[in-house]
Amino acid sequence: MSRLAIRADLLDFTADPGWSAPSDVSPGLRWRPDHWLLVDGGRIAGAQPEAPDTSWLRHDHRGRLLMPGFIDTHVHMPQLEVIASYGTELLHWLETYTFPAELRYADPAVCAAGSSRFLDALLMHGTTAAVVFPTVHKASVDALFAAADERGMRLVAGKCLMDRNAPPGLTDTVDSAERDSTALIERWHGRGRLAYAHTVRFAPTSTDAQLALAGRLLAAHPGTYLQTHVAENRDELAWVAELFPDARSYLDVYARHGLIGARSVLAHGVWFDADDRALLGRAGAQIAHCPSSNLFLGSGLADWRALEDAGAAVSLASDVGGGTSLSMLRTMADAYKVQALRGVRLPAWKALHAATRGAAVALGLDREIGSLDVGCMADLALWQYAVGPVATARDEAASSLHERVFALMTLGDERNLVSTFVAGRCLYGA
Ligand SMILES: [Zn+2]
Repeated sequence: MSRLAIRADLLDFTADPGWSAPSDVSPGLRWRPDHWLLVDGGRIAGAQPEAPDTSWLRHDHRGRLLMPGFIDTHVHMPQLEVIASYGTELLHWLETYTFPAELRYADPAVCAAGSSRFLDALLMHGTTAAVVFPTVHKASVDALFAAADERGMRLVAGKCLMDRNAPPGLTDTVDSAERDSTALIERWHGRGRLAYAHTVRFAPTSTDAQLALAGRLLAAHPGTYLQTHVAENRDELAWVAELFPDARSYLDVYARHGLIGARSVLAHGVWFDADDRALLGRAGAQIAHCPSSNLFLGSGLADWRALEDAGAAVSLASDVGGGTSLSMLRTMADAYKVQALRGVRLPAWKALHAATRGAAVALGLDREIGSLDVGCMADLALWQYAVGPVATARDEAASSLHERVFALMTLGDERNLVSTFVAGRCLYGA
């Protein structure tokens, strides 16, 4: 049946709720307790307090929370195997754990198994859309897009570009990168719910010639994205300064090749100065803030508010395997702690917005994902407010909606998830 109605508490956003003290009537917050969300042909068709007629397949989940599926704007498909690896900072971590794991993706069978496992794991954490790094291998992109297409998921990804400073089995060349990228764009970009991202691993693993190629490809293929890492860690910053002595800053390495624009998704952005932030703001670029990864690898504390004040968009990302969980709830809890160390309190509304509608707006996809607007795809996650005696006691003691949802964001994880829907199809739970 293509007409589905789900009864639950509906929570989403119509605008950015901002940083001011959260309340149960914060601007931008849309709270519809005990409503039926109507889904027709995979899209949201409406919401109403009264039950729809029996021509709708009705799921009664009263007392549970229904939100848009989360959008993880930076995560690595081949790194599930190295999540929770001990003892290193970024550069040593790449060398010791990440590159060896990614080498295995030369094998198409590993790519196929890894892609399915990865996408099912996202769904199992309530994440329905993502901006993803596969590996340098063309087969890893084919496998990831094929698996996403099978599930009907919204995915942004592309072949990693890396033509130096990596093991031989993990490098390409400018020519092979151009050939492979062009073939992949033709095959996948715009098919189903897939979009291509020119994927510069990070400045140290690309020559100037390859960065220039990425700029040319981005300009030549409207609607594609650019994703990379920037200013994550201080040793990395020093290395970039050595490799690109003429650049004003790390960000400038990318900017001079035309890589910083409204369709750029830049992970981290921990170590920026005011000029960098102003450049991001002028370009309308997006920082994928990865608090769990930044804490785990000891990278630093990103200044979310300063980025936004400069006009940059900020979304939230797990950055698994640098991050330690695919759960966007746990990512939000870590974001709260990172901002607390900077003396700023992150409201639950702001965090949830960044992981739903905020990310969708920054990606230019807000007509499709990120909210419960009529016409959006029914990418949904259904949650229990509390699981286990501690969270349940905390939930019962809450005296406002924000208090309740903030406790969910702080204590919750994938155990709270009841089911995940993609385009109205239940792909996890029941
Ligand atoms: Zn990353």
